[in-house]
Amino acid sequence: MQSGLLSTYNSSARSRGAIGWIISALLFAFYLIIYFTGIFDPIAKSLGLGGKWDMYGVLYTIAIVGGGSYFLKIHGNSRYQRIRTLSLMFVQVIFAFSIPLVMQMFESKGFIFSLFWPLKLDYLSPAYILDYPILIIVYAFIGSLILVPIMTFLFGKRWYCSWVCGCGGLAETAGDPFRHLSNKRSKAWRFEQFSINFILLLAIATTALIIINWGLHHESSQGEWVTDHATFDLIASKIQGVYQFFVVALLSGVLGVGLYPLMGSRVWCRFFCPLAGLMGLIQKFGRFRITVKDDMCISCGNCSTYCEMGIDVRMYAQNNQSFKRASCVGCGMCAHICPRGVLRLENKWDFAPIQNDSNVDILDL
Ligand code: SF4
Ligand code: SF4
Repeated sequence: MQSGLLSTYNSSARSRGAIGWIISALLFAFYLIIYFTGIFDPIAKSLGLGGKWDMYGVLYTIAIVGGGSYFLKIHGNSRYQRIRTLSLMFVQVIFAFSIPLVMQMFESKGFIFSLFWPLKLDYLSPAYILDYPILIIVYAFIGSLILVPIMTFLFGKRWYCSWVCGCGGLAETAGDPFRHLSNKRSKAWRFEQFSINFILLLAIATTALIIINWGLHHESSQGEWVTDHATFDLIASKIQGVYQFFVVALLSGVLGVGLYPLMGSRVWCRFFCPLAGLMGLIQKFGRFRITVKDDMCISCGNCSTYCEMGIDVRMYAQNNQSFKRASCVGCGMCAHICPRGVLRLENKWDFAPIQNDSNVDILDL
């Protein structure tokens, strides 16, 4: 079932050929239209949907279910790949799509239970979250501030990035044919370290600003929500708007998906996702690591090629070094694809440092 690397690199769609560029251009156009125009609204309404974002939800879910089925056809012989892919499909269909839709039908705001702060800044924004029932407010706070850090410490960021998240879900299913296109160069790794930490800091600062600004508001005698600090309110609203535009619309949507056929399927997760940045910091001190069996590697390079996060796994395997990497999403493809069974994804109570990030090679493809 597996086509192998030769046919992968002969495929124009999967090797940055003309078809790959055309797919990328179409994805860019789609995201620009859906984010910045209302062209899809009448189409969505003619299909009986509430608006363009409902239509997007339908398409997104179809892409994950369809892509996931295809992925299972190829890699479903691995129990790990089978379970995590089914988990991604299940979470998307039930938690990210059906439950919010049903909530909207009962005239309440939809809530996506599979998202957490800082991927969704609104979940710690008082003006947004206090509109929900108390149980949802508690869920958003406990989920973001307690559940995510504990789960990441125990199991690595894979529990979220490769089992739950919608962005990761699309990357692992419909985006799987492009995973080998991730940039393996040390330049990309240096940019990744800067960009992901920068966006994380931006997300924290923006959230703090939103909360402070909310705290400076009060109810007037006419029952309106007003502030005596108009300039601060204006600056906070502008910064929130800029974050929504650059990070949410451009980086996660337009670039994040539009670049699939050119730079692999995890551009957003690797370079920009603030939640991935936060979980990566915790992962460095947590239990999850990839262990390497001594003197088994034949240096074929399959593991590095298939690593969607651009990690040079082969280098670690050649040096008999087990490792922790902040960016590893625990997809397990390096271990699955290795012809010698050299690699293993493990959670261990061992606090000794294993390996640092300073030794990244350029991969020869
Ligand atoms: S190192 Fe392995 S498990 Fe981690 S992201 Fe790369 S392929 Fe996936
Ligand atoms: S896939 Fe396995 S054998 Fe090949 S380079 Fe990676 S660890 Fe070594």
